[in-house]
Amino acid sequence: MQFAERLNNVETSAIRELFKLLGKPGIVSFAGGFPDAALFDVEGMKAAAQAALTEEPGAALQYGATEGYQPLREQLAGFMHGKGVADVAADQLIVTTGSQQALDLLGKTMISPGDKVIVEGPTFLATIQCFRLYGAEVISAPVDAQGVQVDVLERLIVEHRPKLVYLIPTFGNPSGATLSLERRKRVLELAAQYQVLVVEDDPYGDLYFDAAPPPSLLALSKDVPGSREWLAHCGSLSKVLSPGLRIGWLIANPELLSRAVMCKQFSDAHTSTFAQATAAQYLKAGHMPAALAKVRKVYAARAQAMMDALRSELGDAVEFTPPAGGLFLWLRLTGEGADAGALAKQAIEQGVAFVPGAPFFSQNPDTATLRLSFATADEARIREGVQRLKRALEAVHA
Ligand code: PMP
Repeated sequence: MQFAERLNNVETSAIRELFKLLGKPGIVSFAGGFPDAALFDVEGMKAAAQAALTEEPGAALQYGATEGYQPLREQLAGFMHGKGVADVAADQLIVTTGSQQALDLLGKTMISPGDKVIVEGPTFLATIQCFRLYGAEVISAPVDAQGVQVDVLERLIVEHRPKLVYLIPTFGNPSGATLSLERRKRVLELAAQYQVLVVEDDPYGDLYFDAAPPPSLLALSKDVPGSREWLAHCGSLSKVLSPGLRIGWLIANPELLSRAVMCKQFSDAHTSTFAQATAAQYLKAGHMPAALAKVRKVYAARAQAMMDALRSELGDAVEFTPPAGGLFLWLRLTGEGADAGALAKQAIEQGVAFVPGAPFFSQNPDTATLRLSFATADEARIREGVQRLKRALEAVHA
């Protein structure tokens, strides 16, 4: 069969191939990007779904507006206000089917074949794939412990004149890195100066361990003249509430937003009204702060357990920057010629899984890197998993 040419730009994900091996009994998985299902607020969600069907059954079960269910748009605007974005109203935000759809809509509205985009190296694999599907050349800007290196980013913007710059400034996937306040301001200045769209993808910002991260680019944009219109912000309830609900949102300038709405209309008409009404009821009932407090505490303890175990079991065979939130720890093997791909295969033999880092780079992959998720295993399993990782490392060097 002759498929569309655009499919030639993407390959099936190496990660998906690896996931096939995860069925092995007893395996400790640090591989997924999932939140822990044991932490879902099932009671809160039951009450919210019940309320949605009792109070607004017509709306919850009917077709709805492409922009989103109005009570949810208002709740989400309120949620953003709580995070320092007081000047975004409900009609400046559209509800999307997960933030993944917001990224797809940005690709669809902004990218023509041959256009260039800049992403972090490393970044969220699905974004690389999605932008490539629209024919983008995906250029990579390096990330260090303070997030994307803004001086290099500026050079790349000048050199390539990209259609957009995609960043995960807070607790990046997979890097775990958080962009410093100073660099955030610089990114906004670059957006205004070069008139380049900056996409802030922020599914993890609420999952901080001790202190709240610096304000989002969106919150800071009100103080950087000319930056707001060049900024798009993607939010999601997936990591803080439930990924199965498929609720995300997109905030952007009205011109871009109206085109995104048009594209969404021809794609899924609207995000599930039942899911939207349930999410709106959940937020209205005020369950979110307690739910967030709970997951933050659990993930903080697991991240700490993983870092302690890595330091005591693997010592200077690995290096990492401690994440201050999110779900991921980004590790670099320090041994000469270290290959995280070979280690991943050996690790499965030893009963532990993780994702090698190379696929997260759109250019110049660093094969010594790997991503560990600390979200789904409890502390004892994390310690066991790290011991298995140590055995795997010994076996590759044997
Ligand atoms: N962006 C990033 C950085 C992610 O890690 C994910 C999920 N892994 C998404 C977007 C998509 O999330 P969702 O569609 O569930 O909102």
